[in-house]
Amino acid sequence: VAGRVTGDLAVVFTPDVATDRLVFRLWPNGPRPAALGGRLEAGPVTVDGQEEPTLSPDPTTLVVASGRRFEAGRAVRVTIPWRLRLPGGADDRVSIDGGAIRLGSFFPILAWEPSVGWATEPATGNFAEASTATTADFDVTLEVPSGFEALASGVQDRPGHWTATAMRDVGVSIGRFTKATATAHAPEPVVVTVGVHAGLAESAPAYLQKVVVTLEELAARYGPYPWPTFTLALTPGLGGGIEYPGHVMQGPGTLGRTTSHEVGHQWFYALVGNNQGRDPWLDEGLATWTEAQAERSLTALVATAVPLTGRGRAGAPMAFWETNPGTYYRSVYVQGAQALAALGDPALVDCALRLYVALEAYDIGRPADLIRAAGAVVPDAAARLGRFGIGP
Ligand SMILES: [Zn+2]
Repeated sequence: VAGRVTGDLAVVFTPDVATDRLVFRLWPNGPRPAALGGRLEAGPVTVDGQEEPTLSPDPTTLVVASGRRFEAGRAVRVTIPWRLRLPGGADDRVSIDGGAIRLGSFFPILAWEPSVGWATEPATGNFAEASTATTADFDVTLEVPSGFEALASGVQDRPGHWTATAMRDVGVSIGRFTKATATAHAPEPVVVTVGVHAGLAESAPAYLQKVVVTLEELAARYGPYPWPTFTLALTPGLGGGIEYPGHVMQGPGTLGRTTSHEVGHQWFYALVGNNQGRDPWLDEGLATWTEAQAERSLTALVATAVPLTGRGRAGAPMAFWETNPGTYYRSVYVQGAQALAALGDPALVDCALRLYVALEAYDIGRPADLIRAAGAVVPDAAARLGRFGIGP
């Protein structure tokens, strides 16, 4: 049936701290997709082969809490069948529009922050995300209708099958693509594929060239791009871009700074993760910095005015921006990058970010981790960042 996706999820999870529950997030039930008819239903849930009762404290949260204790260091196997109704024409990460489908944050995802616990921040109504996900090894089988193909996170080793190793999420775009492929050296070889959905007047080779150059430049600045593939899909009805590990979704007319920004997210969000509900600036401010470096637009970025309601609040959580959506971009993206610029010489900022990546790769970074890395390069970094509302 058009607009329906079904799936079977199996997760092997080894908590590193004992817990009395399992928490999965159902992001398609957040305010934006739900307003356009999106709906993700999940269950029944089994844990180690036994069906378990679940609770949904809100539509985006599925909790398995039967009273049993999940011990640190002991693996549990969880299965969850799910059914997704896609929102039509959504300018969003999950959508069916113009004969193409975007599947981002689309399956029940385990919301564990290693050494901390469950991430239960509320969903956002902004063009943004509040997700937290731990790095995992994904084995993905996709069946798509004939005449369509999928571009996804990870390595496709045979028709319909991908392995996405050491990635914190998997994004998929489905359409009828005109493709272009090349190898980037970032510095290890990375097979880059760009797909343009039928009917879009965009040049796959132009985006391909832009991605290759940007991956190579950002790898030289922040450390190696860690995966063997990168795919970018251009699909209709999307304004701007959306990042997943090894896969980016972009809409028409996004060749320039959007591409640089989304490639930058491969380091800040994908490789070094963060709680996007609690610390949205940590991926958006840093990706905006990488964008400014790649686009040589740092001067213009620093000169951009930040709205009064957001000034000095770059570190505020998504819940704050929920009531100030019009100020979110300049207060978090722009101001977050301006806070980095206030550290001094841009080469020192890049050095600090490279150190942050080296220390936090595959983990979930926290503001204190970034402040510590910055402090190793710029001794009064904590005070400088603090003036922008960034603290541990
Ligand atoms: Zn971004």
